[in-house]
Amino acid sequence: MAVINILSPHVADMIAAGEVVERPASVIKELMENAFDAGAHAVTVELRGGGATYIRVADDGCGMAPEDAGIAFMRHATSKLHDEQGLEAIGTMGFRGEALAAISAVSEIELTTRRQGDGSGTYVSVSAGDIQDMHEAGCPEGTIMTVRSIFFNTPARLKFLKSDRAEASACVQTALRCALGRPEVSVRLVRDGKEEFFSPGDGKAASCVYALLGREMAKDLLPVSGEDGDMRATGFTSSPAAGRGNRAAQFFYCNGRYIRSALLQSAVEQAYKNTLLVGRFPACVIYLTLSNAAVDVNVHPAKTEVKFSQEKRVFDLVYHAVLSALTQEDRIEAEEAPAAKPAAAPTPVTTGPTYKAAPRPDFYRSMSSESFRAQGYSVKPAPASQPAASVPVRAAEIPYQTRMDMPPIGHAAPAVPVTRPQTTENTAFRPDSTAPVVENPVQNVEKLAVPDHKIVGEALKLYILVEMGEELILIDKHAAHERMIFDRLKQQERSIMAQELLTSVPLRLTEEDRELIDINGALLSELGFEIEPFGEHDYVLRTVPSDMAPSDAEAAVEEILDKLKSGKAPDPQSARDEILHTVACKAAIKAGYDTTREELQRIVDAVLSGAVKYCPHGRPVSAVMTRRDLDKLFKRIV
Ligand code: ADP
Ligand code: MG
Repeated sequence: MAVINILSPHVADMIAAGEVVERPASVIKELMENAFDAGAHAVTVELRGGGATYIRVADDGCGMAPEDAGIAFMRHATSKLHDEQGLEAIGTMGFRGEALAAISAVSEIELTTRRQGDGSGTYVSVSAGDIQDMHEAGCPEGTIMTVRSIFFNTPARLKFLKSDRAEASACVQTALRCALGRPEVSVRLVRDGKEEFFSPGDGKAASCVYALLGREMAKDLLPVSGEDGDMRATGFTSSPAAGRGNRAAQFFYCNGRYIRSALLQSAVEQAYKNTLLVGRFPACVIYLTLSNAAVDVNVHPAKTEVKFSQEKRVFDLVYHAVLSALTQEDRIEAEEAPAAKPAAAPTPVTTGPTYKAAPRPDFYRSMSSESFRAQGYSVKPAPASQPAASVPVRAAEIPYQTRMDMPPIGHAAPAVPVTRPQTTENTAFRPDSTAPVVENPVQNVEKLAVPDHKIVGEALKLYILVEMGEELILIDKHAAHERMIFDRLKQQERSIMAQELLTSVPLRLTEEDRELIDINGALLSELGFEIEPFGEHDYVLRTVPSDMAPSDAEAAVEEILDKLKSGKAPDPQSARDEILHTVACKAAIKAGYDTTREELQRIVDAVLSGAVKYCPHGRPVSAVMTRRDLDKLFKRIV
């Protein structure tokens, strides 16, 4: 029979230490959070090697009384929480009273601390959890914590540390995350004697982001701001054109605490739907402020995971705040940024003029149906004769005028006379002027204010050159038109117009393709592609969306099947978007083709009015060169 032992407090501390102190970076996090809790205005963090040998955190906070300085290292010693009521409303970063006990159990610590206004301070040294020395000392106001030889008494843990480089970079990353959460605190990080970063601590999130993430990243960030009752979301998010290959540049804070949150991540990413390239991720710094009772931070010892009591509200708040930032696109103005030294981040390379995105007036908001209506435009209801949403729509059943209200630019629309198969075979439809017109913002660009401009011409059969005031605007005609079509199709949602092909196109399909068509048949047909079995194994394509030239039909179906196969469209909504992307791309005027002046004008109007900004894959549709840029290019000015 085994004998049950009660572990000594020392062993218990060493075990608990494992939860709090995973690696040197965790020590940095805990010490910085203590400094923040102490009300510090300036914090200096130093590390040597990978941090395991030496970490020093100095702050100008409230300091500790001599009698508290030793107690601070005991387990459950905290000045921040008194009873269980307090647990409901934690306003400090720490409260478990665990960190110092845990860190000191596996390292050697020296502490000097002096309360503001006290004549002298206290020195304490602790090794493997035992106080070695403690006496009065002369020291600056505030607290300096020096941690050496992390894991010196737990060789097994020491063995698990990665290379110094990897540990040091985790330390830098952690310190940066902490610093970014506190724009009101100036944080300096020194690694092996060299300054890694410095934040000014002027309380402005913009300067903090600029100093810590670097100018290159800050220039692509748009301010975010939203409120719902006592909840607030502020911060910055990247312009869709500045998407990144991973999520490393996404930072979320809840009441100043850096958190990981799948909920917030998805709220932000949802807001980018159809503006960001597939496989690209936004960069963001989102500060969430909510009552301490609305969030439980006590879920994990490192407190990086939190639980919101009203997840949906938090999601909606962040989603809408980011969405509205994207529709406004106010850049952080360079002058807002302080003269702080940029972080170790890349210094901008000046290889020529820089371009900014085309001006976007406020009414870009009109892309959302509510504000679109609010501006006096209307989306007329579908006529009663129009088939119900879920019924596949045949070209012939749609009033011709509806199809014509935004004829595709680039090829005559529709390329094949539309026939009414069920009634009079092969009879061309006539425009019906009484049929209602479905309006959408892109169609209504003429109603939107288009600033004064002059189309200079078209270059390389792709770029439209427009002169506007002191600026030269270049527009990618294909990308812009693709977006116009995509938005219109999206707006029509379930009633995409189809055109009957004069001769059905036989499709050569693999087993997998056939399965995909069986699964997605209803959706494809809703979006204008009717694919029917023909014989035992074959399929034929009978209709395509009316925007597309029939000659593109087969390639479009192939592309759609490829997308469905690649797993790019895990849910029906993304499958729908992917299909619409393909239709828009095929229907859009192509690079290398001649385009009439009227067609160019429509695109220019859509872009200048602000209705079109990014292609459906997230590429910008326009770039601006100012007179100054050009003058610089030609060295008229330097
Ligand atoms: P917690 O932060 O959860 O309270 P810690 O073990 O991190 O627990 O710290 C224990 C206590 O030591 C804190 O509650 C605080 O009173 C004191 N303390 C730690 N670091 C500092 C500091 N930098 N300045 C002032 N007091 C500190
Ligand atoms: Mg703490």
